[in-house]
Amino acid sequence: MENLPGACERRFEGVDAFRRIKVAALCFLYVNYINSDQKWENYNCVLCSLDLEETTYHLIFECPFSTRCWNFVGISWDHAIRFSDTIQKARMECQHQFFMEVFVISAWEIWKQQNAQIFRGTQASFESWKSCFARTVKLHVH
Ligand SMILES: [Zn+2]
Repeated sequence: MENLPGACERRFEGVDAFRRIKVAALCFLYVNYINSDQKWENYNCVLCSLDLEETTYHLIFECPFSTRCWNFVGISWDHAIRFSDTIQKARMECQHQFFMEVFVISAWEIWKQQNAQIFRGTQASFESWKSCFARTVKLHVH
């Protein structure tokens, strides 16, 4: 299998195309955040069996499902330090130069897996996330 960081470095030559998804993903993450006080019957994360409230931080950064995704793209989060510092630390430790692009697409696809399970009853899976991640990367290369 092709090395992901190397593949991303070759594929993200057209950064302008990426800016569209970056803005869209950040907007959706923000809307998800401001709507987080909606009155759902169950607030627990649907991507894991930890029976924890689904905060944006848990869903994107701490959830075992998300952790597997982050491991795949070579990004790790230090939960023992402030959030702004963990972003900077992850960026510095990242082995490829497209940290923000990989970060936004990964988070976007994690969020979409969660939404598909809640609203369409589609079982989230790492394989599905990986496939969607690769497809989104390819869409923004051209
Ligand atoms: Zn979870």
